[in-house]
Amino acid sequence: MSEAYLRRATVDLAAYRANLSSLIERMAPVEVLAIVKADAYSNGIDVMVPEAVAAGIRWFGTVELAPALRLRRAGVALEASFFAWQLGPDEDYAAAVELRVDLGISTMEQLEAFADAARTAGSEALVHLTIDTGLHREGCLPADWAALVTRAVALRDEGVVRLRGAFSHVSETSEADDHAASLVFRKALADAEALGATFEKRHMSSSSAGMEHPERRFDMVRMGSNGYGIPVTEGVTASDRGLRPVLTVSACVVRVKRVPAGTGVSYDYTYRTDRDTTLALVPIGYADGVSRRAQHGVEVTVRGRRYPIVGRVAMDQFLIDVGDDPIAVGDEVLLFGSGDHGELTIGEWADLTGTIPEEVSCRIGRRVPRVYRGRRA
Ligand SMILES: *Cc1c(COP(=O)(O)O)cnc(C)c1O
Repeated sequence: MSEAYLRRATVDLAAYRANLSSLIERMAPVEVLAIVKADAYSNGIDVMVPEAVAAGIRWFGTVELAPALRLRRAGVALEASFFAWQLGPDEDYAAAVELRVDLGISTMEQLEAFADAARTAGSEALVHLTIDTGLHREGCLPADWAALVTRAVALRDEGVVRLRGAFSHVSETSEADDHAASLVFRKALADAEALGATFEKRHMSSSSAGMEHPERRFDMVRMGSNGYGIPVTEGVTASDRGLRPVLTVSACVVRVKRVPAGTGVSYDYTYRTDRDTTLALVPIGYADGVSRRAQHGVEVTVRGRRYPIVGRVAMDQFLIDVGDDPIAVGDEVLLFGSGDHGELTIGEWADLTGTIPEEVSCRIGRRVPRVYRGRRA
């Protein structure tokens, strides 16, 4: 890379496709639903969805309805199913019916509203009945499950509801908690069957459980992190899993300054040089998703060597101490990426800044241009 730039997020589409193909193969015959919520973990949903289709993905999860409707209206991935489950009080159920978006349904009110919209349109509502197995987000409580199922079966028999799925999500608190949640899910499925319900796709696992607990895959697993090459299990790297990191965040040095020992650096002078040294200015800051916690041991990589972030990360920039090394304006600074050039991985960056890699990925700001590599021929 020779051209200079301020800051960028490089998204490796070949890595994304390879990760998804590998997941599809490993999960088969279980379906892999690709989670593309939060603008595909900020990588750009409009670009990522067609890549996933090319890799063989036929189900997408968007959390909210709006992005699914937008992609449908744009004619993207028409052959695929879109699944949304975070519904507001005034959701556009008519649009979900018209544009064939699958919805996770947790309450009787949601079920009636979705079915009404289908009746009006002379069409079907694509329903995934949602049960709360312990996370206490979406989903009806087990005590309300039988009533929800009974009504859904009646609406199915009326021809306005199609029972596409049964859906839950686990807390990932401990093996014991997740096992208990899976038992609640199994019981809910058995009870639903006794009430006359059969589901096309039963699904409760995301990346971690999908990978580690084959008995919890049921008919479909919902995978976000794995696809983006983000490690989800402590002590396990993406490459241990045969996955390639998709996202690299970098910036170019815009200024270098030789300073004497005792020089205070950035806001509040939280760092003072202990010798004559060179400071390099890196134009990416907390507005771009670089945590203010990224100091004290967080290192970036320039020309294959690591250098510490020194002083406070500001909104638009931070400084690194490069000693006597010949770092020059225009040099590329890698914050995190594949690790292939000596840089931190997103998992290491997250550990050092006190968070999880999913948050690091989602927080990369809009001001950071996305540059796509590895497009299909
Ligand atoms: C975010 C999310 C996922 C994906 O989780 P990963 O750990 O990133 O694979 C799956 N299911 C639901 C309900 C989610 O909210």
